[in-house]
This record gives sequence, C-alpha cells and structure tokens, in this order.
Amino acid sequence: MCYSIPGKVVKIDGKMITVEYFGEIRKAKNEFYDLMPGQYVYAQGGFVVSTVEVKEAQELLQNWKEVFLKLKEKDLRLAREPKTLYQIANATRQKHQDNSCCVHGIIEFSNYCACDCMYCGIRKNNREIKRYRMTIDEIVKQADTAVNKLGFKALVLQSGEDPWYTEKKLLELVKKIREKCGVLIVLSIGDRPVPVYKNLYEAGAKSALIRFETANEIIYGKMKEGKKLKDRIDLINKLKEIGYLVISGFLIGLPGQTEYDLMEDIRLTGDINPEMFSFGPFIPHKGTPLAKERIPALDEVLTVIARARILYPESKIVVTTALETLDKKGGARKGLMSGANSLMINLTPEKYRDHYEIYPGRKGMEQTVEDRIAEVLKLLESIGRAPTDIGLA
Ligand code: SF4
Repeated sequence: MCYSIPGKVVKIDGKMITVEYFGEIRKAKNEFYDLMPGQYVYAQGGFVVSTVEVKEAQELLQNWKEVFLKLKEKDLRLAREPKTLYQIANATRQKHQDNSCCVHGIIEFSNYCACDCMYCGIRKNNREIKRYRMTIDEIVKQADTAVNKLGFKALVLQSGEDPWYTEKKLLELVKKIREKCGVLIVLSIGDRPVPVYKNLYEAGAKSALIRFETANEIIYGKMKEGKKLKDRIDLINKLKEIGYLVISGFLIGLPGQTEYDLMEDIRLTGDINPEMFSFGPFIPHKGTPLAKERIPALDEVLTVIARARILYPESKIVVTTALETLDKKGGARKGLMSGANSLMINLTPEKYRDHYEIYPGRKGMEQTVEDRIAEVLKLLESIGRAPTDIGLA
C-alpha cells in the first residue's frame, strides 16, 4: 500500500531540495537526511520524511508510470470547460496543483481537554462522554502499523488540550515515532508554550494543525471563553517561525457568523499562508450549549472551499472529516471536485474512536481502517488523483 510516490532529488539548496516526479518538479524541505542528487525520497506536505533505495524506487516508479499518466489524463478531462463555481475551482486546482493529493492518517490519542469551547463535544464540561487516553506505547504501536504496514507518510497526532501529556511525554512520543517511522508528524495538541513546540520540532515533529476557527474576534471570544483570537494568531505565526508546516483554517456555520465573516475567514487564512487550509463545518453536539444550532448546508462548505481555491490557487486544501460527515456518500468527492486536494483517514484504534466525539455521527466510525483505505483509493482513482507529494508552494 502506498500513499506517496517516491521522487528523485534533482537539486539541493541547503535545506530546500527539488524533487522530480515523472517530469514534474516540486520543492521539499529536508532536515533529516544527508542527500545527494540522484537519490530518491518520499516527501509529505513538502517535507522529506524518508529515503528510498534507488532500485526499489525505480521499480515502484516503473509500476506507477502507466497508472500515473492515466490518472493525469482523467483529472485533466474532468477539469475541462468549467462553468460553475465548483468546476472553476476544480480547474484552478488542476492548473496550479495538478492531480497531486495528500492522504494523511490521524490518530486521536486523548479526548481529555482542559478547555470548554462552546462548539466541541469533548469540551471539559461535557460529562456525558467516556474519556480515554492512549499510552505512549499504544500510540507508537499504532503509528508503526500505519507507516510500516499500511504505507502512510504523514500522521496527525491529535488530542484535546490534555495536560497529562507533559512536554516530557510528548517529546518521548515524537522521538519514539521518528525512530521507528519515516513519517511527517503533524501535532494537533492546541495551545502549548512556544518553547515546548520548539523542542517538539527539534525532536522530529515538523508540522502542526492549529486552526483559528473564526476571524471574528467577538465570535471567537464567545466560542472560547477567556481566550483571545490575537493570542491564537500569534502562536500560529510563532510556529511558522520555528519552521513548522502549519495547517490552519476555521469553522463554517458558527452561530452569528455571516457571509462577510466567512470571506474574512478565507482572507485571514490566506494572510497566515499555511501549508494547508482546513475548513470544517460546525456540526452541533448534544453535549454542548450549541446543541440546537443549525448545521450548515453542504453547499455552504463547498462554496468556501471553491472561493479559497480561486483566491489562493497554489494552496493545499484538505477535505475534513466533518465535511465528509455532512454527506457520507459523496462529501469527499464533492470537496475534491470543488478545489480540495487532500484527505484524512482516521487511524484511531476502534475501541477509542467512537469516544473522540468532537461532533456527532462522524464519517468512518463504522468502517475498518482497511475498508476506509480501499474506499479512499477507489475515490482517488475514479477522479484521477495521484498520491504524489504536493510539495511546497
Ligand atoms: S476544540 Fe479543542 S481545545 Fe476546544 S474543547 Fe475541543 S478539543 Fe478542547
């Protein structure tokens, strides 16, 4: 199983390298390896995560070549003669990002949270959910299976803001995963002091998923009592300064959010200029004060993705699981055909997965990981997308 195609190193410029995939050129950052032109690497999210023996890479590429060209052709055909907003966004994606599609795995390792965000099902004041924490050994074992058996090259490690995972424990976790796995580690652990994030970066975590949720300060203050939007933006900018490949974005459909707010949300995402944009619909959870609020329509979410793609043609945009939840059969496809070019697969062990209920009815809860992988690969094949690394803009 493979979620990334090896690329050939053609140029090295300090920490930046140029990688070629079937004649296409992409940039990637390299901090782990001593590389020479002619070597082969796997890159994810624009970061070199492992090297591959030349012979093995050439065999893989030989097997891929015909499939790759057919996928490109299909993608190009589906992007022709755009008329609607979604089709124009898809054609823009095709023109600027080609048919590359990242597939990230996500392990939700703790649903304890010290925060009380109004929209979130695992907020600390929701006493109705069963709490869990995975041990470090359990997380490492799951990561090992995901990378070395299932072929994932990027893993999001997500939790609530859980102080039980001290800096020491997180450092141990990151180091142990990097020792066993050639993978891009994406931290999604919320507010932590900048020096902690710096040490985690040095330990091997090179990406961070950290959304600002809304660009409207008033709504932000209402949703996250006691917290300020400015502090979140400062943290995101500091993570970028450290070197993290940041994934960021916002919630669509929060109470009080207007069309203007959504355009401001897109603008702020563009200003932050993250490596990947992440826009998810707000889906009310019965264990929160917002239980009776409305669920946004699928079209509202697709419109945001499409507008963001057209405004920021070089961006990478993920289809969130929340979007897939709005339309379990067709949400992923519709997101990818409206400008998105990345997907997530939930790899949380089944015994915990149901309890990470940030919103209800999450897509994929009833599927085995193997079935979900098969579904995603079938979808990508059907719309001509290839798992090459998208590379740095
Ligand atoms: S959104 Fe994040 S920080 Fe807020 S309650 Fe949920 S898990 Fe905690």
